Amino acid sequence: MTELPRRALGDSGIEVPIVGIGCNNFGGRTDAGPSERVILAALDHGVGFFDTADIYSQGRSEEILGRALGPRRDEAVIATKFGGEMGAVERSGGSRRWIAEAVEDSLRRLGTDHIDLYQHHFFDEHTPQEETLGALNELVLAGKVRAIGCSNYDGAQLERAAAISGEHGWATFVTAQNEYSLLKRGDVERSVTPAARRLGVGILPYFPLMSGLLSGKYHRGEAPAAGTRLGRDASRAGDLMTDRNFDIVEALDGFARARDLTILDVAIGALASMAQVASVIAGATTPEQVIANARAGEWTPSTADLLEIDRITLPVAAR
Ligand code: NAP
Repeated sequence: MTELPRRALGDSGIEVPIVGIGCNNFGGRTDAGPSERVILAALDHGVGFFDTADIYSQGRSEEILGRALGPRRDEAVIATKFGGEMGAVERSGGSRRWIAEAVEDSLRRLGTDHIDLYQHHFFDEHTPQEETLGALNELVLAGKVRAIGCSNYDGAQLERAAAISGEHGWATFVTAQNEYSLLKRGDVERSVTPAARRLGVGILPYFPLMSGLLSGKYHRGEAPAAGTRLGRDASRAGDLMTDRNFDIVEALDGFARARDLTILDVAIGALASMAQVASVIAGATTPEQVIANARAGEWTPSTADLLEIDRITLPVAAR
């Protein structure tokens, strides 16, 4: 396999491969054993950038990741998040008090003395942004966190955070994590991308495969196979397996076949080429998926390819 390009996260000194791995399956949809095999496959195939969160299976994802990495911790870049509810509403949000507690809990579960990228999971309108950003800056100064990022912020919230951190000379967000895929482009490209470009922030697209729809394994008019994510979740299957989505999936599949590619190559390779994207963090339940997703990152679209992908996706996915 060709080594994937790496991209810098702001001025943090951290570089990540253009394909990483999302860890929200671990401890929930995927038990500890299979999760560990996925984690080791990611390390072995050059996609050792792991995105987890305290709330993924209420701490189990972080525990499984930390245990599986073990002595190979330094080969990995670990991103985790705080702010979602850990069992009670007072164990959530962006307050100084909760951040101080949440970071220690994450460090313990991950079995590490530092988190590479610590992300605020959801914008918290009940806490002044100064308080959240000041507390995060202290974690950077203490060496517990190497860099900070945000998730589910819009462009204006990202701009405001940068202005506050700048005024105080604090660490600034180097990443913005938002839902972004070839099936859903509008919110990010209208709001987050322009701010991220101005600020030099890297975008981490989540749900890049739309729960597997962009892997090509689901087909119009066919029930999803048992054991797949959509096969196990009828309500999500109903939301995603729509004519609107299959119109794009089938057109992207045709685009891929005409170039001897798979739709997975296009879904991951094209997203990695969009403005400001730092790394595509696809989830995976097996080592084979990890390897396929890593390989997909090897495809770099030409300008003409990107224009054609815009023509296929934008009329619908930009809405
Ligand atoms: P996703 O990447 O769109 O879909 C991942 C799922 O698709 C896998 O679990 C697997 O499901 C299937 N899949 C993956 N690779 C495949 C392949 N090569 N061939 C066939 N099927 C494949 O969605 P996600 O995992 O939910 O999201 C990615 C990551 O984004 C998460 O893990 C998490 O780190 C992050 N995230 C963040 C937020 C946020 O608020 N910040 C929200 C959601 C997610 P099956 O094998 O089960 O079918």
